[in-house]
Amino acid sequence: MRRSDSRPFFPDCDRIQALTCWLGVVANAALITWSAIWLCRNHDKCATDLPMLPVQIVAALFLADFFSGFVHWLTDTWFDETVAERIVSIAREHHLYPHHITRYGFRDYVAFSSWPTVVVIGPPVGGATLLAEPAPPLFGGVLMALIVSAVMFFGTYAHRLGHVRSSVGAVRALQRAGLLMSPRHHAVHHRGNHDIRYCVINGWANHVCDRLRLWRGLEHLVEWATGAVPRANDRRWFARFESDPMFLAMRRPMRVSIVLSDPSDSLTAGVKDLAVVGSERHPERSEGSPGNGVPFRERSLASLGMTAVATSGTYYDQGS
Ligand SMILES: [Zn+2]
Ligand SMILES: [Zn+2]
Repeated sequence: MRRSDSRPFFPDCDRIQALTCWLGVVANAALITWSAIWLCRNHDKCATDLPMLPVQIVAALFLADFFSGFVHWLTDTWFDETVAERIVSIAREHHLYPHHITRYGFRDYVAFSSWPTVVVIGPPVGGATLLAEPAPPLFGGVLMALIVSAVMFFGTYAHRLGHVRSSVGAVRALQRAGLLMSPRHHAVHHRGNHDIRYCVINGWANHVCDRLRLWRGLEHLVEWATGAVPRANDRRWFARFESDPMFLAMRRPMRVSIVLSDPSDSLTAGVKDLAVVGSERHPERSEGSPGNGVPFRERSLASLGMTAVATSGTYYDQGS
């Protein structure tokens, strides 16, 4: 862990990004609901396979864990900002500031794993349930798809749970029982090159994938086929962080309101909203708490990298 500060850098997004998130959430919820309805309507035709139920549940939990690891591996290893800017930024932030994951919102926790689930599981489940005759093997497949989709709905939240000691006893009990990934298990991912223990639901698949060196094998294959270098983007972010530890904090846009104390000031009288690039984390402001109403001067504004210049006034955070 690089810093103990837990405020995330990318909690906000534009309307398109928010809509895309919610679309994935709704689509995954629809997939779960449709799978459940199909199972209820066809369970009487497939009852002969009920003894297989425990095996299917355990297999689905393993597959869900593997799926979470596959998505995590893809994002860490091959994606860059041109693929999905905000998601990749959050993923890179997560390696530099692991605890920031605990401060994102419900939308992001349920959206990030929902989209891959809809894309991968949606078509086969939709096709099979609409076109094929109900039969025990199909019933088992849809049941497992339902479990994987439902678990992946909370996939990113399970990752979050692996970064903090939960105050909920049931969560800690599940982590102790190995049904949820524990912080101790996941901490290994955040050491070295961040290239093992990608699976973040219960960690079961990590024991298989890491022992078989599955991720390295896939990387060699992709590298051989495309020439792409694994984790090149992640390394760039780390290099940038090494040369300028403030680069992430400084790139977060922040809106401030400036209330002029003197109506005759050269700046427009009254309140003026300014979009600025700066951060309350900047050392220049370390003497003041991030609270509102901090007096500023032109020099300190410039040192914060702000785009506006005012002679004097009062600085307010966005939330004021
Ligand atoms: Zn990672
Ligand atoms: Zn993590």
